[in-house]
Order: sequence, then C-alpha cells, then structure tokens
Amino acid sequence: MYVELPFDELKVSPDKRRIAYFYDQDVGNYFYGTGHCMKPHRIRMTHSLIMNYELYKKMEIYRAEPATNLELTQFHTDEYIDFIDRVTPDNLHLFPREAQIFNVGEDCPVFDGLNEFCKISCGGSMEGAARLNNGSADIVINYAGGLHHAKKSEASGFCYTNDIVLAIVELLRKHPRVLYIDTDVHHGDGVEEAFYTNDRVMTCSFHKFGEFFPGTGNLTDIGIGKGKYHAVNVPLRDGIDDASYKSIFEPLVKTIVDWYQPSAIVLQCGGDSLSGDRLGPFNLSMRGHANCVNFVRSLGLPMMVLGGGGYTIRNVARTWAFETGVCNGVILPKELPYNGYYEYYAPTYELDVRSSNMNNANSKEYLDKLLTQIVSNLDHTKHAPSIQLQEVPADKEDLGDVNEDMPDAIDTKGGSQMQRDKEVERESEFYNDEEKDKGERNVFEQDKIVETDVPKIDESKDVEHGVTLFEHEQAEIDQLNKEGMDVDGND
Ligand SMILES: [Zn+2]
Repeated sequence: MYVELPFDELKVSPDKRRIAYFYDQDVGNYFYGTGHCMKPHRIRMTHSLIMNYELYKKMEIYRAEPATNLELTQFHTDEYIDFIDRVTPDNLHLFPREAQIFNVGEDCPVFDGLNEFCKISCGGSMEGAARLNNGSADIVINYAGGLHHAKKSEASGFCYTNDIVLAIVELLRKHPRVLYIDTDVHHGDGVEEAFYTNDRVMTCSFHKFGEFFPGTGNLTDIGIGKGKYHAVNVPLRDGIDDASYKSIFEPLVKTIVDWYQPSAIVLQCGGDSLSGDRLGPFNLSMRGHANCVNFVRSLGLPMMVLGGGGYTIRNVARTWAFETGVCNGVILPKELPYNGYYEYYAPTYELDVRSSNMNNANSKEYLDKLLTQIVSNLDHTKHAPSIQLQEVPADKEDLGDVNEDMPDAIDTKGGSQMQRDKEVERESEFYNDEEKDKGERNVFEQDKIVETDVPKIDESKDVEHGVTLFEHEQAEIDQLNKEGMDVDGND
C-alpha cells in the first residue's frame, strides 16, 4: 500500500489562480511575553519577504475587518469571548476564577491587545471564507490564522480563538462538504473536536504523536455518531523527512478527495513541522513542507491556506513566503531579496530551509500500517455522506434556497452586514482597490439564534449544532478514552 515516492524537485503548475492574501500590519506588534516561543512578529517577517519578492504584483492584498465578538460566538461561548474581550495584564487579578476555567496563564498568557490579536486572526480567515464562498478568489491566504488548538470555551497551546472553525462554519453556508488538512507538527485537536460528530467536515491531521502536546490524535480516533470515519489522524514519529511525508500525504489526501468529494479545502500550514523547529521534532525542508500546498493546489478546489505553529521564526517566514509563491504558481528564487528583517537570515541569506541528517523514526512498515488502516476506515465515507453528492450551484443567484434555509443566513439581507475588506490606506500602492468582489460575512443581528428561527431542513442543523459536542457525545468520548478502546471496539 505505502510506496515511497522520491522527493523530486518541486514543480508548480503556472495556471492562473485568483489569490486573496490577508494581512493586518498591526499583527506583528502583539507580544506574548519575554521568552514565549509564539511570536506574531514572524507574520510580519513573512509579509516583508512576500512584498520584497514582489508577489503583490500577482495577488490581491487585503486587510480584513477584525471579527466582532458576535462573530466569535458563532463557535465560542459568550462567557469566554466576554472574558477574552475584557481581560488585560492589568486587570487579570480581578478574574482568578475565569483565568483558571478558560485556561489562560503560562502557555496562553494574557498580553496587551489579546482581544485585538484574536479578532485580526479570525477576521482574516472568516473574510477569506466569504471570498471563497462568493467566488471572488480561488485561493485565500491568512498567516495570522491557523490557530487550531483553541476550544469552544478554553484557550490552549498558544491559541485563544479558533479562526479555522469559524472559517469552516462560514464555508458550510455554501459548501456541502469541507475538507480540513492540518500539517502542523501538533494535532489539530480544536478543529477535530468541533466537527467530531459532523459528516459535513472531514478533518485530517498529520502530527507527531506520543508524549507530545496535546496528546490526542491517535490512529483510532475517527469521529463518532454521524461524524464516524470523518476524522482522520496520522500519528507520526520523530524525524519524518520530505520523501516519507510526501508518500503518505499525497495518496491519503487523494483518496479522501476522490471518495469524500469536498468542494473546498482548508489547509493549516503550521511551520513547526519544519526541520530545526524550536518545538517540533520533524525533519521537513521548506520544499517538503510546501509540497503539501502544491499538491492541494493541484486538486483545483477552492482553497484556504492558513498559518499555525512555527517557532524558529526565520524558517517559518521563509517557508510561508515560498508557499505564497507556490499558491501563485511561481517558485521563488533562492537568493533572498533585501527586506526589513534581512539580518534574521544570516549566515546564508538564502530562502531554503534544509533538512538535517537526523534519524527518521517512521519506518516504511509503520507508514504502511498507518496508510492501510486509514484507507480501510475511509472506505466507509465512499458512498454515504448525509448530504447527497450534489452539484453546488456555481451561480450566486442560484443559492437562494440554500441561503434561506441556512440558519445563519437569516437577517443578512436587511443592511445589517458589515462593510468587509476595508483596505489598508497605508502602503496603498500595494493594495488592490477593487471593491466589487468583496466578501460579506454573514452576521446575524440577535445575540443568538432563538429556537424558532432554526429552520426545518436537516442539513441546516448540522451547521447549527455541528460545532458543538452534545453532552452525551462528550461522555461517549470520555468513556472510550478511559477504556483505551477505539470507537470500533477494536484494540
Ligand atoms: Zn504546532
């Protein structure tokens, strides 16, 4: 089953895709604290490389409107968002109970501007989803997003609000099935959990497993209820290299896409799976990492590219810049252009992140076992998504029925939509000034959808409830975990 493919030179197809790239120049100013390894500054470094490689000539650059508290509560609880919105380093002592419940502290410190940082991150991903939905972009990019550990009412692993879940919820308004792929070295637990009982989202996470944060993501975790077989976990060992990663990533993603037939793909590109990461033990080169972006792009589906982890920041910036090139159908030259952070790239001043000679603990036998088991699980997804395989109307006007039946579409027609994609005034020469295709995120006016507003059709329930684990479902998961069994009862 597993065949090791050679890792050849990366080739991108030069065909033109319309790219919307989201960047907020405030994002690099947020600071988790001295000694904390999450550094939003890496997003600014990435942006500087992107601009100096002149990729702005190829794509449209936007600053998204920051998400509102109301938008954030489309996944998170009101109490949690209220806390995130109000807490500051100066008043944290007034919230001892909340700090504990919502898990802020050491890994997830309260820093100045935390709420703004969360809103920038989520705003970009939600806006990106809106642009994919309205067809004004083929690929959207938000490196301030990808914060996959955040839970419904809990911060986790340097993540506070889950832009990915919010973006997928937005995509579900138009797309019957969405595939989420996570190449961060850590398990994409927050996204998996949000859709664990849902068959309209398939999550697929490639990650280091075994005595490693967050501890979840075993091969046997495959989803429950309607979501059974719609969570895919690829638990990897230390030192995976470009050839092994490609050889498991490509056939697996291809099988999922062939059988599940998603109409949009969200790709989390966490840079901590790169060789030499401060936290991650993988051994991917920049090109091995970017091969995932290139492969998913080659599938030709609407695609969202997000950031994520990544703690050797010069390598994260290199790789995300290179991957932005790949999205645009170009291989960036090795020699770094002069840029605002040039000294970070000493001593080589080259683009490439190379792999090391570390041992690859993923044997061919091990990878074969993984691939065989996962593909046999996927066999169940082949014919029976609860929403039948159907053509999604290409024309926005044809979506009338779908929109009216979706709970979240209520109240979006009376002028309550916010103006989106307000473009940056500063650096305006880099920013596209077309307004006509701007995305509109669907916000509703009431604080909550009240029971009577929930429309009748079944699939809309998926949107409404799919991001929430019911109590009994959580109990089922807890029980299974306690027993150490997989959900099939196999061992
Ligand atoms: Zn990570």
